[in-house]
Amino acid sequence: MGQDKWNISFKTIMSSLLFAFVFYAIALWRYLVTGYIFYLYNFGYIGTALACGLFLNTALPKKHRSWGRRIAQLLVGSYLLIYVGFILGENLQLEGFFIYLLMGVFQGATLHYFIAKIIGPLLFNRGWCSWACWTAMVLDLLPWKVPRYKRVRSLGLMRYVHFFVSLAAVLYIWFILGNRTIYADKTTEIYWLAVGSILYFVVGIGVGYIFKDNRAFCKYICPVPVLQKITSRYAIMKVEINKDKCIDCGLCEKNCPMNIKLLAYKNANKRICSTECILCATCIDICPKAAVSITNKIDVIHFKSACIRN
Ligand code: SF4
Ligand code: SF4
Ligand code: SF4
Repeated sequence: MGQDKWNISFKTIMSSLLFAFVFYAIALWRYLVTGYIFYLYNFGYIGTALACGLFLNTALPKKHRSWGRRIAQLLVGSYLLIYVGFILGENLQLEGFFIYLLMGVFQGATLHYFIAKIIGPLLFNRGWCSWACWTAMVLDLLPWKVPRYKRVRSLGLMRYVHFFVSLAAVLYIWFILGNRTIYADKTTEIYWLAVGSILYFVVGIGVGYIFKDNRAFCKYICPVPVLQKITSRYAIMKVEINKDKCIDCGLCEKNCPMNIKLLAYKNANKRICSTECILCATCIDICPKAAVSITNKIDVIHFKSACIRN
């Protein structure tokens, strides 16, 4: 009942607007500090796209709510990859972040990583991974939305290997080869972005096919969670199950693209503090009892006891 109707309330509108205003504040801050008009329209656009997605994700009839996230993901992901990446010539990938850090530059990839993947997760968890990532924007088009197999925990180590290989490659270029002007020419930056993006897409689709899991690349190979997981553990926004409403049907857990053990968290009276949760809202949309929601709190986290292994 009520699932085929729009759900437009004061709360729905205000939470989307609040989200947009956070981005507008960042846009204004960067514009006032740097004088670059780019920051105004860049963060303005991203904030507006995300706010529209959030609005649709709560306002649309339940069976269509995931469109909100997909629309935001397409708007932000394609903007960052095509416009910021290829047209403006900014390599927003991990290696770009390392190079900008070494150059002492606080813009482009550095700012992107700082907001989306290091400090931002304290607020919006790993929301980047389902609402904005351009790699997942493509991987989410694959047909294996519900993972067919259990997660292979040991393969997660590959993410750390990937992270340190990327770091080592940049340090080698910078310190051993002594190339401090690698990004002096934008063409190099664009080539690096192009090769890196193609590799991510090809490998992502390949492992998606092998594991019959759209998010296999995210679970096993992508190096970005190595950074996100540090702060997302303390995220204010997390998924929570209302024990009183839950009927233990298991649908949320069965459909979670990241194989999170939602019911174990519920039974332990905890929010979903797994750093694998990407706030995709699948569990919220699928729950027949409206028992799942995203709540905003500060958890007291003890590293060893708080998180249930998934
Ligand atoms: S894990 Fe990597 S590829 Fe997957 S959504 Fe996050 S940043 Fe994108
Ligand atoms: S727990 Fe829910 S929000 Fe988190 S990844 Fe799983 S389905 Fe998505
Ligand atoms: S889908 Fe809802 S009712 Fe079913 S187990 Fe999950 S939280 Fe409980």
